[in-house]
Amino acid sequence: MNIILLGPPGSGKGTQAKRLEEKFKIPQLSPGDMLRKAVAMKTPLGLKAKSYMDKGELVPDQIIVQMMKERLEEKDAQEGFILDGFPRNPQQAQALDKMLKESGREITAVVEIAVPLTEIVERLSLRRTCANCGAVYHLKNNPPSSAGVCGQCGTSLVQRDDDREEIIQKRHEVYESQTKPLSRHYAQKGLLVRLNGALPISTMTQELMVKLREKARTA
Ligand code: AMP
Repeated sequence: MNIILLGPPGSGKGTQAKRLEEKFKIPQLSPGDMLRKAVAMKTPLGLKAKSYMDKGELVPDQIIVQMMKERLEEKDAQEGFILDGFPRNPQQAQALDKMLKESGREITAVVEIAVPLTEIVERLSLRRTCANCGAVYHLKNNPPSSAGVCGQCGTSLVQRDDDREEIIQKRHEVYESQTKPLSRHYAQKGLLVRLNGALPISTMTQELMVKLREKARTA
């Protein structure tokens, strides 16, 4: 299974990617998570990426494509992968097509998750994450059992810098103008699967599994 998850910020890509990772035993490859780690470690990549991320803009393609190329070459990604946040524009999609072709791999399915903007703003402004283990909480729908503390590793929870309302709007605009057009690219290749992101998390996973198995069977 080589899966791409498309969907606006807050659509639940990361949550579904983690579930698929467990079910299929293939890694979730998230450039957003990789960049946040680089920012926290103050690496040259992190320092370069931070200014774009803080504004809700895309980090330049050259940086992202190289980073994802290296990640896709790692051993654990050879049996399959879940791309969560890449590609994000037509140039990245072309670069991905090229790198997969060169390594003799093909995309199994591209899942587009749709959620209305009002719901996204609510979800992201109430989202809290653990900077240590990556666990994600929602203050209303999925609060940590002890306020402000990660239930999995005990680290203090934080709000991502880019989960503030004005930045959420910007990230949504970037999604609509640059990423959404990719659904046509993949629909034309017969790879697109649509998923209703307003459903409860577990129902979404069940539907996703059914649709992915169907795609894998007919591929
Ligand atoms: P995410 O965690 O996927 O919401 O990504 C957080 C931020 O990381 C984005 O707003 C971008 O600044 C940057 N980013 C993540 N993935 C990409 C990508 N494929 N291309 C460019 N920038 C990205």
